Amino acid sequence: MAERSLRGMRIGTNSLETENGVRFVARHKIYYVCPNNHEFAISLVLDAQAPPMWECRCGQKAHLRDSEEETTEKATKPARTHWDMLLERRSEEELKELLNERLELLKAGKLSLHPKR
Ligand SMILES: [Zn+2]
Repeated sequence: MAERSLRGMRIGTNSLETENGVRFVARHKIYYVCPNNHEFAISLVLDAQAPPMWECRCGQKAHLRDSEEETTEKATKPARTHWDMLLERRSEEELKELLNERLELLKAGKLSLHPKR
C-alpha cells in the first residue's frame, strides 16, 4: 500500500484549522493580507503570539493586517484550507494513494512541476 513510502510524512494534519474535535477555547482571529491582495484570517488561542507573517495560499508572504483582532467567544467557522476541503472529499488513505501515483508520474517524467498560478 501507499503507506510505506509516506511514513513520517504528515501533510497538513497539524493545521491550526481543524474543524473536528476542536474544543473551543477562547480564540481570536488574526487577519493577514498578501501582496496579491488575498485576505485571510487564522484563529489563534488568545495567549498565542501572532506571527508577523503567514504564508498565503498563493505562496506569498502575507503580512499582519493592522492589529485588528476580533475576539470570538463563540465557535465561528474557521477558514477552510484547500487541504480541509480535500479531506471532505477524500480520505487520507485515498490522498496518500493519489499522491503516490502522482509521485510515480513525476519520477517517470510524465508530469511537469509547474502548476498553474
Ligand atoms: Zn495570496
